[in-house]
Amino acid sequence: MSSSGASVSDRKGIQREISKGWNCIVELPPRREYEAVAERNWRIEVHEGVDFEGQHFSFPEGLFVKAQVQWLEESLLSVRMSLSARVEGKCARCLADASLAISDDLMYLYYLRGLEVGKDTSLPSDEGYMPVEIDFWGRILNLSDQVWESLLVLLPLKLLCREECAGLCPHCGADLNDGPCSCDPQERDPRLEILRSFSLDDV
Ligand SMILES: [Zn+2]
Ligand SMILES: [Zn+2]
Repeated sequence: MSSSGASVSDRKGIQREISKGWNCIVELPPRREYEAVAERNWRIEVHEGVDFEGQHFSFPEGLFVKAQVQWLEESLLSVRMSLSARVEGKCARCLADASLAISDDLMYLYYLRGLEVGKDTSLPSDEGYMPVEIDFWGRILNLSDQVWESLLVLLPLKLLCREECAGLCPHCGADLNDGPCSCDPQERDPRLEILRSFSLDDV
């Protein structure tokens, strides 16, 4: 898959107000009860959809979230976030309607600001986790920001109607899924366009 290289932190700021209305709150298991897992499930309506990387995604069935929260150590809390949804939008190549099922698990590690994982903890490192620093431990945890963050990690950088979509001719706009257009094949390939411009610059 091609990537525009957007990092999670780049993605976080986008349309943040959408997640403000979410209320993904979980009650923490009792401290030091390391076997106890608190689990919550939510189905979130995303009425406005999400604009991301120049694409608009809608969620006709909503977003399904499962959170499993467990103390690892006295001051380390792990949160397994499982998301699934069907997203709809336009194919990035041919603009036809496209749909994709997304689902994944993400692991978050919550700890107090200033704590050094590996130094102040038995857990050697936060490898495999997305770290979240918090200011204090309450009895509940609002996971809405991490649900939003997880959703942005899961959204495709390019939604396609199908993997082998041939796209539109950049020259005449014909849908190449319906067969070749009458353009010169050299003009049809944008990669050759780039090569030509390089060679012109070099002359
Ligand atoms: Zn397509
Ligand atoms: Zn053409």
